[in-house]
Amino acid sequence: MKLLKKESILYFLAGWLLCLTPAQALQLPKNHPVPGGIAVITLTGYNTAPQASFRNKPVMVVRDDKGTFVALLGLALATKPGEQNLEILGASGKKKIMSFTVANRDYERQYITIKNKRMVNPEKRDMTRIGKEQQRIRKALASWTPQTPETLLLNLPVSGPVSSTFGLRRYFNDQPRKPHSGLDLAAAEGTPVKAPASGHIVDTGEFFFNGNTVFIDHGQGLVTMYCHLSRIDVKPGQHVDSGAIIGAVGKTGRVTGAHLHWSVSLNDARIDPEFLLREPLPKPASGSK
Ligand code: ZN
Repeated sequence: MKLLKKESILYFLAGWLLCLTPAQALQLPKNHPVPGGIAVITLTGYNTAPQASFRNKPVMVVRDDKGTFVALLGLALATKPGEQNLEILGASGKKKIMSFTVANRDYERQYITIKNKRMVNPEKRDMTRIGKEQQRIRKALASWTPQTPETLLLNLPVSGPVSSTFGLRRYFNDQPRKPHSGLDLAAAEGTPVKAPASGHIVDTGEFFFNGNTVFIDHGQGLVTMYCHLSRIDVKPGQHVDSGAIIGAVGKTGRVTGAHLHWSVSLNDARIDPEFLLREPLPKPASGSK
């Protein structure tokens, strides 16, 4: 009886919190509608939260400090500058298209020499493994849970300087590869890696390129990924508070040295983590790649 009562109070509290969540005013990131950036789009004229989608994927909708709904749309590096359309579905079922303009952003080139040739041109047997892993990584990064993130301002997971910026157009042993979809932070092996905001662990694993990896789902399509870890301290399904240690910096996978590769994904688009940082980034390490 006592337990039942306790439970019903908990359910009441949970329901109350859920009702409150969409109304909470979050400090919003600035509008950076560029490839690898975030478009902040105000949705006026809605009393209840509308649903937003971009290319058939759900998009985060939160309230600003005036109570107006705002869509926060992550733009993949491959997004073409020019006009793009965000689809809005009101609670009444009414659909609306909102057009916005994506501006250009230039990214630098980076040339990296990798001694282990198998890491540049994997062998046939590696390709099967890599294919399976890519699917798993894509699935984790595309996670969607309806909870609004506790915050949209992220702390740095390690305080090391930037060794590789986001969006670099990379050449491994002079061969073009996908652009750098995260931020590299230099830190000594074993440095604790901290959750930049609260969330839950979607997946963890040991991957060919990414090494030991952790994925955190912060809610409404905001997912963060931590690669090349020397150890993993969390398990899938586990809740983590902001600042919780999820693992340690390492050099597992395809790396030239110990560092943390940190990716931030919004509606399944990898964006520049800098756009969501609470504090400015420490100065880049001189002479590093
Ligand atoms: Zn990286």
